[in-house]
Amino acid sequence: MPERIYNFSPGPSVLPYSVLQQAARDIVNFNNKGIGLIELSHRSKEFMGVAQEAEALIRENLKVPSNYKVLFLQGGASSQFFMVPMNLLQNGMKATYLNTGTWSDKAIKEARLFGEIDVPFSSKEEKFNRVPKDDEYTVGPDSEYLYFVSNNTIYGTQFQSFPTADALLVSDMSSDIFSRSVDVSRFGIIFAGAQKNMGPAGVTVVIIREDLLDRAPENLPTMLRYKTHADKDSMFNTPPCFSIYCVGLVMKWLKELGGVEAIEKINNEKAALVYEAIDSTDFYRGHAEIASRSKMNISFNLPTPELEAKFIADAGAQGLDGLKGHRSIGGCRASIYNAFPREGVDRLVAFMQEFARANG
Ligand SMILES: *Cc1c(COP(=O)(O)O)cnc(C)c1O
Repeated sequence: MPERIYNFSPGPSVLPYSVLQQAARDIVNFNNKGIGLIELSHRSKEFMGVAQEAEALIRENLKVPSNYKVLFLQGGASSQFFMVPMNLLQNGMKATYLNTGTWSDKAIKEARLFGEIDVPFSSKEEKFNRVPKDDEYTVGPDSEYLYFVSNNTIYGTQFQSFPTADALLVSDMSSDIFSRSVDVSRFGIIFAGAQKNMGPAGVTVVIIREDLLDRAPENLPTMLRYKTHADKDSMFNTPPCFSIYCVGLVMKWLKELGGVEAIEKINNEKAALVYEAIDSTDFYRGHAEIASRSKMNISFNLPTPELEAKFIADAGAQGLDGLKGHRSIGGCRASIYNAFPREGVDRLVAFMQEFARANG
């Protein structure tokens, strides 16, 4: 194995090395069939097998009930910001959104094009440093669904448990899907772009309860209807073949590792190490309130922007890459998704301690 750096990028992000190696071989010669994976027709027996296996592994890893469809769509998670309200809201209908960061803010803007959107909670004034507790908002009885972002990639906050409100839940899980167990049966729709915890950019996985497929208004374009893709097993048009294939490999890797329960335990341990490093000195300040802390993205500040720049540069020189925070809040961010190795976390923690000693 060649020297690999530790990649803390928020997305696209680190993938298991074994997956990269397998993909590199299959791109050139898929299963020794003398044809490259990305040359295969999406209607071929070979590729249909790839897509079916990816779907089956997603279902197995997340324990998706049989009355849900798993779709492979394009347009990124951002396209779900409009597809969700376009498919679930008709004229005059209402929905409730929790505003916990940039991604929910954008989703709210899109949803307002299609319905009356209630936002009973926003942490915008506090730079999105927390998510709400259950008793901080209510969902009106005439609300079609409650929308929330389970992990706020930029701010490093995460719902520690899912809302208990008596409402149909819709969640953007782009940056924490498959990082912890989820009772899918409580959700109407779960969606996630692949490029954080599942594979390369290009595919968005949508898990949708079957009865919701028939809610779309008559005048919705074919490609924007969930039902179109559900009826054709995501093969209505050419799907993002390579991304789907990689998601399948990542799902297989996850399953062999022990599945979501096993990775959840590892993720808890990894995140605890970084938060300990933050809390053990006044030099570092976590962005998120403690009760809202994310296990996937850890956003933190140093005493000055100059020290933050030096921290990022010095870390980079040691092979700890991608620690720059998002431009909207600055500072530093360590994204430690499923595939981020534990040794990389140990290296970061040692670097943080040493840097605080030398510059504190
Ligand atoms: C990255 C991200 C998005 C945007 O995903 P695209 O695939 O780039 O559209 C949306 N929501 C969350 C939570 C994200 O982390």
